[in-house]
Amino acid sequence: MTTYDTIIIGGGPAGLTAAIYSGRARMNTLLVERTYPGGLMMISEQIENFPGFPTGVSGPELCTAMQDQVSKFGAQIQLAEIQSVDLAKPIKTVRTSDGDYAAKTVILAMGAKPRRLGVPGEKEFQGRGVSYCATCDGPFFKGKRLAVVGGGDSAVEDSCYLTRFAKDVTIIHRRDKLRAAKMLQERALSNPKINIIWDSVVEEINGSPEVERLMVKNVKTSNLTPVKVDGIFILIGQEPDTAFLKGQVSLNEFGYIPTDVEMKTNLPGVFAAGDVRQKSFRQIVTACADGAIAANSAEKYIEAL
Ligand code: NAP
Repeated sequence: MTTYDTIIIGGGPAGLTAAIYSGRARMNTLLVERTYPGGLMMISEQIENFPGFPTGVSGPELCTAMQDQVSKFGAQIQLAEIQSVDLAKPIKTVRTSDGDYAAKTVILAMGAKPRRLGVPGEKEFQGRGVSYCATCDGPFFKGKRLAVVGGGDSAVEDSCYLTRFAKDVTIIHRRDKLRAAKMLQERALSNPKINIIWDSVVEEINGSPEVERLMVKNVKTSNLTPVKVDGIFILIGQEPDTAFLKGQVSLNEFGYIPTDVEMKTNLPGVFAAGDVRQKSFRQIVTACADGAIAANSAEKYIEAL
């Protein structure tokens, strides 16, 4: 079995940037990704704040450019599902659906997956009106009535995007204040197709055979109101995919990985980068920065062996 200098787990912006830096440092690098490289970037229709693109860039476009850079510097990308890892020993083992791999260092860059509401109907109607990705599913709702749950950047930005297709968009938010950036709030609040139901949560999703109605509860009065919609976008943040690390890498109470400024975890030779890391600002640009630092730290770790 080849022993790589580094195995990067996850192919979002953090993992891809780590692969660019480690490949360029002539480290023998393997990047393992479950589905397709790009992570959440792949579902970003327009990225306006990545430096160097004054007119914006689409997520898939940015992802393709990063992948080309990874290939240019010689890192290998393998599509496979992680089954388990053994990270405590000097030579780390990563077991995947494609076979076992060994490395001197591992960079954890698995990102995070969409958070679920956990209400009746959510699972049953997924793909039949329940969605977690506006860019992927928005075009299916031409002329329809939509609800968006959440009050963060994703919910507010994607509500604006969804008005391109939908007849109207109702944001349902559990508080009386949005968390989203002020500029996005202004854009949504001035959009005539968007209205907001404040202080409210979705209790149930109903319909047959597709979503037709939500039961919405006002958290202050406990009043239940039916809201007629053809689709609901649940955009309430993400959760890290770190269950397979339990008992090895230290995790915080929400499952994110604490690191120091050099992206070191509690285990020697194991680094974390991007959204999977405990941090306050999850952006593509901060994920890229983490990836670069993690690769550099992995290089220094190997040099000191
Ligand atoms: P987020 O910032 O964590 O916001 C999640 C939203 O969902 C919050 O408003 C939260 O309510 C609400 N929420 C959470 N759990 C809920 C539940 N169980 N039921 C009902 N509502 C719930 O997540 P995000 O909007 O996906 O953003 C994630 C990160 O990506 C952020 O750092 C954001 O800045 C970044 N992002 C940036 C852009 C951009 O710059 N263009 C676009 C998208 C995302 P509370 O407010 O009450 O907590």
